Amino acid sequence: MAAVLRLLKPSPLSSSAAFVRRGLLSTTIAASEADARAKSPLYPRGSPAPRGAGTEGRSVQWVFLGCPGVGKGTYAGRLSTLLGVPHIATGDLVREELSSSGPLSSQLTEIVNQGKLVSDEIIIRLLFKRLEAGEAKGETGFILDGFPRTIRQAEILDDVTDIDLVVNLKLPESVLLEKCLGRRICGECGKNFNVADIKVQGENGRPGISMAPLPPPPQCASKLVTRSDDTEDVVKERLRVYKEKSQPLEEFYRIQGKLLEFDLPGGIPESWPKLLEALNLDDHEEKRSAAA
Ligand SMILES: [Zn+2]
Repeated sequence: MAAVLRLLKPSPLSSSAAFVRRGLLSTTIAASEADARAKSPLYPRGSPAPRGAGTEGRSVQWVFLGCPGVGKGTYAGRLSTLLGVPHIATGDLVREELSSSGPLSSQLTEIVNQGKLVSDEIIIRLLFKRLEAGEAKGETGFILDGFPRTIRQAEILDDVTDIDLVVNLKLPESVLLEKCLGRRICGECGKNFNVADIKVQGENGRPGISMAPLPPPPQCASKLVTRSDDTEDVVKERLRVYKEKSQPLEEFYRIQGKLLEFDLPGGIPESWPKLLEALNLDDHEEKRSAAA
């Protein structure tokens, strides 16, 4: 493990012991909601997001928020590798259950075949099952991606585990739009590229943003296609819906003192080191390979 938590003394015992609360999973959601909120989160409420002092004994029970196209999955995935905790994306859980012979599989197949949305309850059951299995295997934390999406989901999550940090990845809407409109897929090999070359000048004290394109190799260049839902109207609507739904959730975590707002300064090369800095993390391997 190349990762070193600069200020965190890893304490696998304390972090794994508390990570899924026993006994709640079998109760109904209504019962778990009624369950006392008298608990002592590892990360105390009302205090600022962990930037430096007082993070000793901190665990990694994180949630990643961010609008579609911001790169949430990418950063959550990188951090999960760095920290040795699983990146749990609820979309993956649904796909895994569908391809298994688990108890929810046939129910899920029916829902998906009818084109319906998978209910909160099913998502929560899948997630809790995954967290419990992870705890049994000795996992010491997790990074959630795609859950919670609503305050209700966040409250249910709070009843079974202690989320200690919520990272909200942000990019200006104009950049997100440009980024989404620049997406291309190779019609032959299915690889993703991006032709947008984004350079936003800094102004009014805000830093500029630059994102290099991800151009296709010559063999793919003539076969690029655009996803049918990457039109300006569709992307704008997607962002509007996201904003409307996510604001109350962000506020919920802001009040708890767990929200870390992170304005991405650009693409991965610009953003990754800054994100690590904001999280008080160090990526030794990255430094070694950069120095080599
Ligand atoms: Zn190709």
